[in-house]
Amino acid sequence: MKRLSIRFRITFWFTAALILVVLFTYVAIFFVSDQILQKTIRDNLIETVEDNVDEVEFYQSIAEVDLNADVDHFIEYGKGYLEIDDDFLDSVNQVYTALYQDDGALLYGENPISREVANTGFVDGHVQHIHVAGRKYYIFDRQLTEEGLEGLWLRGVASEEQGVVQNSTLIQISVIFLPLLVLLASVGGYWIAARALGPIQEISRTADQIGRENDLKKRINLGGGEDELHRLADSFNDMFEKLDEAFEAERQFTSNASHELRTPMSVIMAQCEYTLEEPRSAKEYEEALRVIQRQSRKMSGLINDMLDFARLDNHPERYGKEDIDMTELVSSVCTDMALVREKSISLQFDVKDGVGFYGNRELLSRLLVNLISNAYRYGRENGHIFVRLRTGETELYLSVSDDGIGIRGEEQQKIFRRFYQADNSRSGVGLGLGLSMANEIARFHGGNISVESVPGEGSVFTLTVPMP
Ligand code: ADP
Repeated sequence: MKRLSIRFRITFWFTAALILVVLFTYVAIFFVSDQILQKTIRDNLIETVEDNVDEVEFYQSIAEVDLNADVDHFIEYGKGYLEIDDDFLDSVNQVYTALYQDDGALLYGENPISREVANTGFVDGHVQHIHVAGRKYYIFDRQLTEEGLEGLWLRGVASEEQGVVQNSTLIQISVIFLPLLVLLASVGGYWIAARALGPIQEISRTADQIGRENDLKKRINLGGGEDELHRLADSFNDMFEKLDEAFEAERQFTSNASHELRTPMSVIMAQCEYTLEEPRSAKEYEEALRVIQRQSRKMSGLINDMLDFARLDNHPERYGKEDIDMTELVSSVCTDMALVREKSISLQFDVKDGVGFYGNRELLSRLLVNLISNAYRYGRENGHIFVRLRTGETELYLSVSDDGIGIRGEEQQKIFRRFYQADNSRSGVGLGLGLSMANEIARFHGGNISVESVPGEGSVFTLTVPMP
């Protein structure tokens, strides 16, 4: 089954949660409002009836009545008269109050359901309810106890209708409004999720393109921004940059290596074809063999170097490490190399006593030989080479200085690349692998090689490695 998009899933869960909240809100609204409503109706009913208690009075004779006062109703009752004040609320806010006799006879006031409640006995100070024609009514009775009023009851009746009307408006509003809110929130949520996840689509589109077209030059472009996805895109772009550089270096290496191998190979083949064209003298054969030997040595050197690179790159663990007496190693390499005396260059060295180091003896002496060979190769007639071994607090420094041709500023970083040769040194002697090998060896030991050089004056190459 196809996985649903993150955008859809976020919106789905968000909407589901919202619907749940809305349902809870509905229940809460209905429940609480119903409770409040019932209480309001009951309180209102009780209050109205209680207010009316004082509005009924008894008089022995009509002569006692102050006829100047605002009076409304007189009813003959027992041995006197009942006076019902005009403040008597027989119908207010759906609350009806009526005056009854013990036997249920209505003396004054209104009761919308008088027939239906005719058989409902009076209960003093207690709210009862009754359903008439599907509608709920509350009834509250109050016995009158003043002198002369014995046997009289006030009965209040309130309908639930008013409350239902109020309630239904509330329901109508919430039934329309809340789902609309959910709809709006989910559409908005979907839109926001789409916007927030848009950059991810761009990232995966670019990654797809790179995979399909094999083009590591492509970059993810999200426009300006500082959020997590922009940082992710930046990290991806950095990674593409590094991969591109690595692939480029690899491509360059393969193309250079095959080029370097092809030249001696063509020389060997041309030499063979030329020599075999006709019978040659022994001297000519010897010369031909010497050419072939030289070219083969070059090829074999190159192949060895390439194998060493591959081993250092892919299987560094194959080069073991041991405790080395660096003082002894550097001194013996320098003593041997001093014998070269190419271009009458003299080699001197200053080596600190008792320097130990944990590393690979073969690789370190190779590094030093490479640096000294370069100093000879690019040194001037009667020049000087100076090798120095010293230690800092936590580092070991091994430097080789010469007073030779020097290296131009812009070339100083490039000379560590494989097969790179500066213009002035394309003599055909070297292959451009010595320094990159030295650099690999430095990295193998957790350090690096730096160069300082002034064209025409000389160069200093320094190996810096941390000491354990
Ligand atoms: P190669 O010496 O075989 O050409 P390297 O990797 O040893 O290759 O050196 C790369 C380039 O760096 C050289 O071609 C040369 O131009 C420059 N170089 C290296 N060492 C020195 C030095 N001591 N003085 C001047 N240039 C140097």
